[in-house]
Amino acid sequence: MEPQASSPAAEKPPAVKEAVKELHILWTPDGMSCDGDTISVTAATLPSIEDVVLGAIPGLPKVHLHNRVLDAQQGGDQIMQYWHQAAEGTLGAPFILVVEGSIPNEEIKSQGYWTAMGVDKRTGQPIRLNDWIDRLAPKAWAVVAAGTCATYGGVHAMQGNPTGSMGLADYLGWDFRSQAGLPIVNVPGCPVQPDNFMETLLYLLYQAAGLAPMIPLDELLRPTWLFGKTVHEGCDRAGYYEQGDFAREYGSPKCIVKIGCWGPVINCNVTKRGWMDGIGGCPNVGGICIACTMPGFPDKFMPFMDEPPGAKMSSAVVLTYGATIRRLREITNRTASREPRWRQRTTVLNTGYHPTTYHEPAPATVEKTMIEAPITGAAS
Ligand code: SF4
Ligand code: SF4
Ligand code: SF4
Repeated sequence: MEPQASSPAAEKPPAVKEAVKELHILWTPDGMSCDGDTISVTAATLPSIEDVVLGAIPGLPKVHLHNRVLDAQQGGDQIMQYWHQAAEGTLGAPFILVVEGSIPNEEIKSQGYWTAMGVDKRTGQPIRLNDWIDRLAPKAWAVVAAGTCATYGGVHAMQGNPTGSMGLADYLGWDFRSQAGLPIVNVPGCPVQPDNFMETLLYLLYQAAGLAPMIPLDELLRPTWLFGKTVHEGCDRAGYYEQGDFAREYGSPKCIVKIGCWGPVINCNVTKRGWMDGIGGCPNVGGICIACTMPGFPDKFMPFMDEPPGAKMSSAVVLTYGATIRRLREITNRTASREPRWRQRTTVLNTGYHPTTYHEPAPATVEKTMIEAPITGAAS
């Protein structure tokens, strides 16, 4: 799981420098997957798939998207032709390979296969996903893992599973480099947050067009600007946490750390970004964060409804401090909620205004003063 030091093999593919004018996206949901990431991305707005595919965004290369779920016009052999052409090197334009779902270990059994896509015309046998990855990844302009299954193994890689499933970087190697010299780009989430995925794709398309520098990734190969902060840092309920005000049951608007939220230690931006068009975001709307973006998900964070072990200590400390602060703030809030005493209807001026330079002019001089003296400011 740990990123490996770069090996000479990792530097082999020559970096593609020319600006790309046209590009294919070969996106397979046929890893060990539920297709949930493909479905999730249909909700993206920043940008939407339609905007990218229909050329509505200035500066991008012309994009041809091939995904058997999203492509309503093509299926079966029609859609597989692009995969065969990419493998043969006859596609005619660079391509980005998007893998959704974890990669099974096909080496640990004597017969059958875990997941496959299309048919080998010579043998009539299904072509295993692993074979497609072996053929296409070294030829791809970039390789993207969509969702936590593809990035780190996810649900199918849980302890005790028979498939030996793993993430793409564990399969290809953490020091893999694409034709353009890029590491694998990981966009985790179960499913992936729609705009996180499309924004990453948009970045790569701008990079391919020569309009953006190398995509910034952290040591787990995630875009740094999307996964650099914790759920807790963007959570609508963080004020309750800070005041030691914890929910004991679902349905409460308070902080839900005591009933299972892992937000303080999880890298994810949905509390800031929301899920669809800015709406939602797990703890914001009452759902505990179950750490679905993380490499150890799900095993490491189960059982989901229990208070995370680390939260016991930190919330105990916050409880003491927070309860005191909350009481003091309640007092201040009560005084802040009252109007100042001088905002009452009376016959005398009681604002505390005590002029030292202003005097009521004598009636005989009023007219002269108003004509001769320019108005320079209130009561000055
Ligand atoms: Fe499905 Fe989640 Fe795996 Fe995506 S990451 S394929 S949504 S289980
Ligand atoms: Fe942090 Fe979770 Fe509480 Fe939000 S609900 S403040 S993320 S612990
Ligand atoms: Fe996953 Fe937690 Fe982010 Fe929700 S808040 S998407 S459960 S990591």
